[in-house]
Amino acid sequence: MDRLIFLGTGGGRIVVANQYVGTGGFIIQTEDYQIWVDPGAGALVRAKQFGVTAAKTDIVYVTHQHIDHCNDVNAVVDAMTLGGIKQRGTVISTPTLINGSDKDQPWLNPAVKAFLKDTFAVKAGDKIKIDKFNFVATPAHHDIDYCNGLRLETPKFTLGYTSDTAYFPELAEVYKGCNILILDVLKPGNEAWKTHFNSEDAAKLISEVKPELAILTHFGAKMLRANPIYEARNIQKKTGVRTLAAQDGMRLDLRNLASQTKLET
Ligand SMILES: [Zn+2]
Ligand SMILES: [Zn+2]
Repeated sequence: MDRLIFLGTGGGRIVVANQYVGTGGFIIQTEDYQIWVDPGAGALVRAKQFGVTAAKTDIVYVTHQHIDHCNDVNAVVDAMTLGGIKQRGTVISTPTLINGSDKDQPWLNPAVKAFLKDTFAVKAGDKIKIDKFNFVATPAHHDIDYCNGLRLETPKFTLGYTSDTAYFPELAEVYKGCNILILDVLKPGNEAWKTHFNSEDAAKLISEVKPELAILTHFGAKMLRANPIYEARNIQKKTGVRTLAAQDGMRLDLRNLASQTKLET
């Protein structure tokens, strides 16, 4: 089964604090692997809510050390290793999250880190090969020392995830050839914010990359009020690329992606 499951579609302080929508990240199931991207605050609870078995997770990819992306990484590793009884699994994240820095303790608790088979501290441009997958850390301009997007190359599809970033022209090259592009779009319309995308930025990148399917997520309070479905519809109209607004618990079957996502014109 090749599946994408959203365990949250929220971002930013207000939405995280109030859980207007979840902040559990998303799950990719393919090639008998379960990959969890950005298990933010409440991730374990959202997994239970939306029928995902946390213990079956094999690889966790955390883009950066903000609470809406990383908070539950220790809980997820604990779940996938039976509290350390089974040493298994991999975490890929930033050097700060894995090893700490002068200013910060590592977010991944060293005791929990010992439960894992592997950890990889990556910076933009690094590529980690695991079995049939390539995890490429992509650049992001965000308000933190390290933030990586993701380009995940699998035998059946290539998935891009911008994570939190401002728009910059090199992004188009980085995500070229992605079948699916997931974008963190905090703000609606053309509302400028120096460390995040708005809908206009999303439309620009989508029209440059031209994926088969674009998915918006990581909505702030204003974006939720504006209604992400309308924003997605406008982007689809502008770009001609099939564009969805993710919803908590949304499941997408990634088999036959091309035929499913053909635009009805
Ligand atoms: Zn965020
Ligand atoms: Zn962030």
